[in-house]
Amino acid sequence: MLKKLSKIFRRNNPPAADEPHIISSGRHPLSPKQISNGARKVVEQLSSDGYEAYLVGGCVRDLMLGLKPKDFDVATDATPEQINQLFRRSRIVGRRFQIVHVRMGSEIIEVTTFRAHHTNEKKNHNDSRQSAKGMLLRDNIFGSINEDASRRDFTMNALYYHPQDNSVYDYANGLADIEQRLIHIIGNPSDRYREDPVRMLRAIRFAAKLGFKIEANTATAITGAHKLLADIPPARLFDEVLKLLMHGQALATFHLLREYQLFGILFPATEEALTNDSGYYQAFVEIALTNTDKRIRSGKRVTPAFLFAALLWPALKEREKQFGQSGGSPIYTLQQAAGEVTARQCQRVAIPRRFTMPMKEIWELQLRLPRRAGSQAFRLLENKRFRAGYDFLLLREDAGEIQPGLGDWWTDFQDADESKRESMASAVQQPAKKRRRRRKKPTPKKPANE
Ligand code: ATP
Ligand code: MG
Repeated sequence: MLKKLSKIFRRNNPPAADEPHIISSGRHPLSPKQISNGARKVVEQLSSDGYEAYLVGGCVRDLMLGLKPKDFDVATDATPEQINQLFRRSRIVGRRFQIVHVRMGSEIIEVTTFRAHHTNEKKNHNDSRQSAKGMLLRDNIFGSINEDASRRDFTMNALYYHPQDNSVYDYANGLADIEQRLIHIIGNPSDRYREDPVRMLRAIRFAAKLGFKIEANTATAITGAHKLLADIPPARLFDEVLKLLMHGQALATFHLLREYQLFGILFPATEEALTNDSGYYQAFVEIALTNTDKRIRSGKRVTPAFLFAALLWPALKEREKQFGQSGGSPIYTLQQAAGEVTARQCQRVAIPRRFTMPMKEIWELQLRLPRRAGSQAFRLLENKRFRAGYDFLLLREDAGEIQPGLGDWWTDFQDADESKRESMASAVQQPAKKRRRRRKKPTPKKPANE
């Protein structure tokens, strides 16, 4: 595939400034058949109504690389209102960055209007707003395809494809960077990160997912800008964290995030625990992410609750240590620490309650799984988080946090028939409860005048 790309590149003369490099039909690996029906219809409808419309972004990039696109995005010179009027089943979404979702059968196609730079003469408060630090709070200034290309994040993401003329339009030298396997930001890297710090996370995600290198200036500027990520709304960071961890290369992503000091912005307490790691924390997180990657690559489900439970486990253990010194029961200590760790984490990355609740249950099960004598084992097996709690226990054993043995017992128990289960459960010695010293009740003093 890359050989083909270099041929494409050499055969074309360099275009004039501002003109795209056009790779016409037959000279690139794309064909209209590779485009989803919905996306093709959207482009056709817009074109037949006189608008410019192209497929753009990740789908063109991935097809160039011979990969299956995750979704198909369309860019056009029609405004959101015009798109909305043209398609019956469509709606305008987003405020910061308006897009239109067009439903075609079971597909939802994201259609965006070409964006322009936020120069003063074009500014209108409703369409363009920036924070004091230069972050774009609204990005709804529309422009030409040329301007749109220069507003995109990386050169490889500024490729436009027209299924009707079957040509690829390269506005930012994206093909050359794809050929060299480089993530290359468009424009001045520091300015582009200041406008939208999430672009730093996107650079990491694509580097890990595609196995590309981050171009030198694109990489260096992250060092000066990484702290800006803390200004991004926690709800947006939650979406980005899921994208970072759910594409099948979470382990590589984790290493890159740490290398570029971005992990500590997303997971401050875990970063602190990892920095002072005296034992198994790093191994634990790495094993958890390796498992996540294996599951995703084999098409199995991964729940965010389990992922966050694993990523925050080192932070939880550190907090428990501090609480433990005040002598409460293990479950009380765990619950207090879990509450604090979760609340602190949600200030940065807003994990919805539907995930923090099961996350805490997975943690609590770690205290309950050793207590399996008699009927307790049967009750635990019925617990709706049992499977997640058991998988989590195996991770802890693999990472060397606890001695192996309990995991095998639970594996055998699940495989056993009813009578074997009975005998396994009755053979368990209940771990001795720590005896709590009862405080002596003070003996009432006799009144002095008696
Ligand atoms: P994926 O395979 O994850 O879908 P993608 O490149 O298509 O990758 P999207 O989030 O779907 O990513 O975005 C579509 C396109 O929109 C990108 O390719 C890029 O051109 C542009 N884009 C997305 N986010 C930004 C951003 N923060 N700044 C500038 N351009 C962006
Ligand atoms: Mg996409």
